[in-house]
Formats: sequence, C-alpha cells, structure tokens
Amino acid sequence: MPDMTKVKFLTALFLFPIRSLFEERVAQSDLVKTANDYYRASFNQTPAQDKAVMLPHCLVSRKCQATFSKEDGILCVNCKRCKCGEIKALCEERGIQFYITPSVGFTKRLADRKQLRAALGATCGFEIERGLKSTRLTLKGIDLRERRVIPQVVLTAKHDCLDNDLDWDLLRRIIMNNY
Ligand code: SF4
Repeated sequence: MPDMTKVKFLTALFLFPIRSLFEERVAQSDLVKTANDYYRASFNQTPAQDKAVMLPHCLVSRKCQATFSKEDGILCVNCKRCKCGEIKALCEERGIQFYITPSVGFTKRLADRKQLRAALGATCGFEIERGLKSTRLTLKGIDLRERRVIPQVVLTAKHDCLDNDLDWDLLRRIIMNNY
C-alpha cells in the first residue's frame, strides 16, 4: 500500500511550476497542505527543544516594542500589539524555540546555527516560489547547508512586508500537535 501523503506531496511538488502559472494561490495552498500532511508525523515526533516557530517580520505591529539581535533576530517583549507575543508565550510553555526573523536568508542561517531538526514557519507564496528555486526540498526535510529541517508551513494572507496576517488558529494547532 503506497504512502498516500507522500504520493500527494510529490504530485503537488511536480505539478507546482505549471499549476502556479494558472492558479497561483491554489497551487501554493495545495503544496503547503500536502507538504504539511507528509511531514507532520516527523514534525510532531521531534523533541520540543529541537523545534522552533519562526515567524516573519511582516506580522509584527508597526508600533512593535522589540529590539533586534544579530544572533536571534527580533526579540519580542510581548507588548500585545500583535499576535506574535501570544505565540511566543505558547512556545515558551511548550519548550519550543521561538524567533521572529527579518528575512528568509536570516531564517535559514538561524536554523543552521541553532541546530534545529524541525521548524514551523510562516511565509507568503512569493517566498515559497523563490525558496523552491534556491533550496532543495527532500523527503527528509529542507536541505540547509548543515542539516535537514522538517518543515510545517502556514501561508501568510498576502505578499506585503507590512501589516500581514495569517490563520493564527492553524498556527496554534500545529504548535499543539492538534492538526
Ligand atoms: S507582541 Fe512582540 S512582536 Fe508583536 S508588536 Fe509587541 S514586541 Fe513586537
């Protein structure tokens, strides 16, 4: 009996370049959903301390009170002006690392530096298309320089780098292994 999550994921990955020409958002959603389904068991089995939630800077409030660290990115102080602080608190409760990063390149270097085995990220469709061209996606995870990282992804609502949004309930459910 073939692993249907694997078949669906590989089909979505194979068809993605063509489908995205005609139905971009649907192709992106399908790829994310099938990839999440395929990697979910491995993601959930990864110990909390080896996992991180990595959010993009476009989700923070324009009045964000955070400072910036070259090592760890945007250091949220949970000022409650955006939902990132609530997610940070949930990660702390569960022993999962939490980061807000200024760019995809920073995110990849951070994942390498922190020796992550799994990461839950949020990204827009534009970055997914760019990422597929620059980073190898294998059946064991995203192939970074030093390691493979098992992904889970939530699509952001739009491509903009300011005032972005996402399905926060879905993000919470993935963190809680309830998805
Ligand atoms: S909750 Fe955190 S990320 Fe959001 S605006 Fe406040 S300090 Fe910035």
